[in-house]
Amino acid sequence: MTAAGVQEKALEQRPASAGQLFGGLFLGPDLASQDAYRSMVNTATDVLIREFASSAKPYSGASPESLLASLEQQPACPEEPSETMSELLKRLGAEMLRHSAVVTHPACVAHLHCPPLMASLAAEAWIAASNQSMDSWDQSMAGTMLEEHVMEWLCELFGLEEEGDGVFTSGGTQSNLMGLLLARNHYAAVRWNWNIQQRGLPAASCRLRILCSEEAHFTVKQSAALLGLGEQAVVTVKADGRHRMRTGDLLLKLEEMKASGLLPFALVATAGTTDFGAIDPLEELSAIAKQYSMWFHVDAAYGGALAMSESQRARLRGIEEADSVTVDFHKGFYQPISCGAFLVRDKETFQTIRMSADYLNPESDEEAGVPNLVVKSIQTTRRFDALKLYLSLQHVGGRKFGQMVDHTVQLAKDTAALIRSEERLVLLAEPELGTVVFRYIPASRGLDDEMSLQWADGLNARIRDRLLADGWAVLARTRAEGRQCLKMTLLNPLTESAHTAIIIRKIVEAGLALELDQ
Ligand SMILES: *Cc1c(COP(=O)(O)O)cnc(C)c1O
Repeated sequence: MTAAGVQEKALEQRPASAGQLFGGLFLGPDLASQDAYRSMVNTATDVLIREFASSAKPYSGASPESLLASLEQQPACPEEPSETMSELLKRLGAEMLRHSAVVTHPACVAHLHCPPLMASLAAEAWIAASNQSMDSWDQSMAGTMLEEHVMEWLCELFGLEEEGDGVFTSGGTQSNLMGLLLARNHYAAVRWNWNIQQRGLPAASCRLRILCSEEAHFTVKQSAALLGLGEQAVVTVKADGRHRMRTGDLLLKLEEMKASGLLPFALVATAGTTDFGAIDPLEELSAIAKQYSMWFHVDAAYGGALAMSESQRARLRGIEEADSVTVDFHKGFYQPISCGAFLVRDKETFQTIRMSADYLNPESDEEAGVPNLVVKSIQTTRRFDALKLYLSLQHVGGRKFGQMVDHTVQLAKDTAALIRSEERLVLLAEPELGTVVFRYIPASRGLDDEMSLQWADGLNARIRDRLLADGWAVLARTRAEGRQCLKMTLLNPLTESAHTAIIIRKIVEAGLALELDQ
């Protein structure tokens, strides 16, 4: 063999990880590293099953101080390791996993915080180990094509198939920011012939306005602030008794703006508000957006999953008219955090945020038809999260995804009925998706003055704290109608009304006990 041939052979075999200075640290072609990897992952799985998946309660009840004290016994970065991987995993399992919110537990019902599908967990192992980066094709060859393939299906799912396009994001926060970013840039380009990406905000931009419901997610205001428009640019529209945007108030606000020379450029509808799961009237709103030449963004971070259900899909009618859509997969699609998408009806609109870097996506790639997804994203290095959604869809199938949606919608209705029949609890609204908002009404004191009402507010907050400290239930709190409320977010398809009945009983018991303590 020639000298060059020997060198090539060495590259094919790659350096064996074992026996070198950094041996045992990386997975490679040698059996020793492969065995080490398998053993680490197996031990990690065993500890996870023991300390997390088998938990009898949704939380251990540990206080923040005790958790910190236990971690502080060990420096975050020791100069030299003192434990084997197996010892490390066992110690951390006891210190950390044992004191985590058990998302797979039926009484872990605080937030839009889902149990992840097993298929997605298997995919996560590949996402991490293969470590593809979605910014350029030469860092994620098959991955880029798979993300584009899933994106095509997603556009179709929401009726944006013709000129539609999209990109995976870190979640609803990023997707909402992208929606308003594109909306702002598009408006300036079309109305003012002004390129904000290059020239920054023109003076007239202080008159730009975004409309959304008073119950829209706080990230609408956050986005306005990040986009240099300020929170003052967000005008909130009143919601009706079912917590949906009132079109009458929207039209009123639009006319007021017109009269005072303000420039409403974007309308944000919510499909599934975080507290009440309310779906704004999408069809009417899309028509109003057209009439006033506004960008129509639909925040379907939560409600987007309805599209998977035969019986619920129609509730999203109008979403196909959106200029852009936010959808989260780490909520109703049961994916591990983080996983979301941002979709647009016209792929050309991505042009207003396009960046080109010689090292990443040179113009020549474009000409050669090599797709570099960085042009559609505000992230550079980006995880291959499309894989976990894809593997889940393939493994579970669309029909069962729809049945999971149906189950949680029904569970919320059944739980609401249980709350209604409970003397000490009052339901704030009929559930729309999977959230149930209610309040504990004290037995020992009437609520006819403000002081008593405030006392009841405190009592509701303490019920939530008590159940968390006892580890019986992880509940959420929120304010509605100006008062402190309790909230259950039912997302776990394994939860039944027999479970929520027990949680309700625990809430009432805690309320009565706390009243006696006063
Ligand atoms: C969760 C949520 C968001 C924020 O999404 P993240 O994934 O947490 O960034 C935005 N809007 C709505 C309606 C949500 O439910």
